[in-house]
Amino acid sequence: MKASVFTVGCRLNQSESDALRARLVEDGVMIVKDPADAGECFINTCTVTNRADRSSVQLIRRICRLRPKPRVVVIGCFVQRLSEKVKAIPGVDEVWDNKRKLAEISDACPAPERSRALLKVQDGCDRGCAYCICSLLRGKPTSLPRVDVVSRFDRLVKAGFHEIVLTGLNLGTYYDNGVDLAGLLGLLSCRPGDFRIRLGSIEPDTVNSTLVDCFADKRISPHFHLPLQSGDDRILERMGRRYTSCQYAELVRQIRGVRPDANIGADVIVGLPGEDEDSFERTRSFVASLKLGYLHVFPFCPRPGTKAYSMKNCVPEYEKKRRSKTLRNLSTWLRSKYQAQYIGKLRQAVVESGQTALTDNYLRLHLEGNCPVEPRGFVNLLIGQNQGRPVGFLEHLVTKTPTGV
Ligand code: SF4
Repeated sequence: MKASVFTVGCRLNQSESDALRARLVEDGVMIVKDPADAGECFINTCTVTNRADRSSVQLIRRICRLRPKPRVVVIGCFVQRLSEKVKAIPGVDEVWDNKRKLAEISDACPAPERSRALLKVQDGCDRGCAYCICSLLRGKPTSLPRVDVVSRFDRLVKAGFHEIVLTGLNLGTYYDNGVDLAGLLGLLSCRPGDFRIRLGSIEPDTVNSTLVDCFADKRISPHFHLPLQSGDDRILERMGRRYTSCQYAELVRQIRGVRPDANIGADVIVGLPGEDEDSFERTRSFVASLKLGYLHVFPFCPRPGTKAYSMKNCVPEYEKKRRSKTLRNLSTWLRSKYQAQYIGKLRQAVVESGQTALTDNYLRLHLEGNCPVEPRGFVNLLIGQNQGRPVGFLEHLVTKTPTGV
């Protein structure tokens, strides 16, 4: 039997697809990339925005049109929200909601084909941010018991992964019998093997000084993805976020105190109902003043069932587009500023498939020359630039200063 697994959505979804692949392999199924070669296709869907809905439906329809048609199983958040709609798509054979998906993969250790392993340690959230559909679909917070985290981590290191990314819907709320995320990092960082740990996206209000101090350990990558969402306190309050812009700025300062080289990125939502030009401008100037490393910008998308769905004073779509573009341009500038500090410096990186490598401080570098190291392996790279694009030169091949450094 051959099967394919497709994913739309976040890292959490990707890690669950990895676990599903591992479960199928344990059951003697061969994983293939091309759905035309598969007897069964699993489509792990997302519904975080209208665009995610559209991508999920397009993928389902495309696979259902194949002849001969594989058996089609649709799973994940879009099913959780709109199962009847999914069942009505001609060719869908089975649907699994999130509960069923998690039950199917509960004890599978992800053995992905990717260069960096995603290890899901937490799921669910009860913060109730006004715009967020994810917490409504994934339920209350749960944490993987630490013994299971450690055993999966060891298996991934043994399988040859040098970078393991801890993920969760609200990762900073990890808690297992007295062990929080800082405690978990302490347990993992002293495991045997040659690895580094990266944290996935983490909510600012869950990062305390103990956790920040963990980043002094060089086995933990100096990279934080801290969703900001807005730099305007009135909008943060409307969103139901549990911090102010001042508290966020203080956290950034604390992180840089422990790791001056940290790459700190953020999600920002533009166009929440009630976000006027002044609020947006406060966000823009706040982000610029913090000198973050990059932004992920999302135009607000109303999701039925969330508090923000029925908020008044909607921002027109053209205005959301304009604000998104402004922040994306700012992100390009921030990224190049952060990168520029590392030109001519050496960083450890994990080789990815293709000709790229990802440094500990989250710079994706194009590899110059033939790389003798397989994907997943560690290399030390001298960072340069080629036509504005960051590139990496393998340290042991560098005999004189390469062009662009
Ligand atoms: S948790 Fe949110 S982002 Fe992730 S797959 Fe579900 S809806 Fe999409």
